[in-house]
Amino acid sequence: MIISVASGKGGTGKTTIAVNLALSIDEDMQFLDCDVEEPNAHIFLKPKIRETKRVYIPVPEIDEEKCTYCGKCREVCAYNAIAVMKGTEGRKGSVLVFANLCHGCGSCAYFCPEGAIKEVNKEIGEIEMGNVGSIQFIHGRLNIGEAMAPPIIRQIKKHINPTRTVVIDAPPGTSCPVVETIKRSDFCLLVTEPTPFGLNDLMLAVEVLRKLKVPFGVVINRSDLGDEKTDKYCKNQNIPILMRIPFKKEIAMAYSKGEPIVKAFPEYRKEFAILYKWIAEQTT
Ligand code: SF4
Ligand code: SF4
Repeated sequence: MIISVASGKGGTGKTTIAVNLALSIDEDMQFLDCDVEEPNAHIFLKPKIRETKRVYIPVPEIDEEKCTYCGKCREVCAYNAIAVMKGTEGRKGSVLVFANLCHGCGSCAYFCPEGAIKEVNKEIGEIEMGNVGSIQFIHGRLNIGEAMAPPIIRQIKKHINPTRTVVIDAPPGTSCPVVETIKRSDFCLLVTEPTPFGLNDLMLAVEVLRKLKVPFGVVINRSDLGDEKTDKYCKNQNIPILMRIPFKKEIAMAYSKGEPIVKAFPEYRKEFAILYKWIAEQTT
C-alpha cells in the first residue's frame, strides 16, 4: 500500500505528518522523501545512509558538421529547450541547447533527419538510501540551479517494494513533481491549515487528486487557528477530515529541535496508528 502525504502549499506540516505516520506503523515499511528541492524528513528520521546514486538525464549535443539547421529539433521540443538560427549567405547557422530546460525526452534526437544529435548525460541530482529501525529510507536531492525534479522522483519511486507499506512525502503545491509523486498511490493525505491561503491551496490539490483518481482525506494542522471555512468546504465536498492537530508551542519547539511529535508526545502515536488503520481499511 502506498500512502502519499501532500499539501497544496508549503509550510502546512506535511513532512511532520508523513514522518509521524511512518513512525507509528509497526511493520517493515519504506519512507520516500520525494520533496527533492528541499528534502527534510531525514532531519526527523535520522536514517543511516548506506548508498548514494547520482541521477542523470540525457541532454542533446549537436554535431554542427552534420546539422543543416532545418529546425526540426526546435519544432518537436515541447519545452523550448532548443533554438535554431538558420544560416544566411556567408554565415553559418547555429543551434543552442538550453540544458536547464531540457526534460531529457529524446524527441529531438529521434526526429533529427541528419542524425546530428547525440545524447550526453547531465547530472541533475542524487538519491540516498539507508534505514532507520525497520524503515527503509530513500530521498532525493536536486542539484542547486536544476529545475527537473520528476526524473529524480522517478528514480526514487523505482525502489518501491510492492510488498511493503510505503509512505511518501510529496513536494508541496500542485505542479508536475507533485503529480509524478502522487500518481499510482493507493491513498493521499492532504495536509492543510484552516486559513484562507490554506483553503485555496487545498481546493487546488483536491482538483489534482480527483483527476488522478487517487482517494484522499484531509489532516488539519494547527486546527485551532484560523476559521471554519475548511471544515465547511470538506463537509460540502464529502471529504473526510481524518485528523486534527492543534497549535501547541511544545509541538513547535519539538519540531524546531528535529524531534517527531510521536517521540515528544507518545500519546499521538495511538492517533497516527488509528489513522493508518483507517486508511488500510479503505484501501483493501
Ligand atoms: S533537427 Fe538535426 S539537422 Fe535539424 S536543426 Fe536540429 S540538429 Fe540540425
Ligand atoms: S531531449 Fe526533449 S526536452 Fe530536451 S531538448 Fe530534446 S526535445 Fe527538448
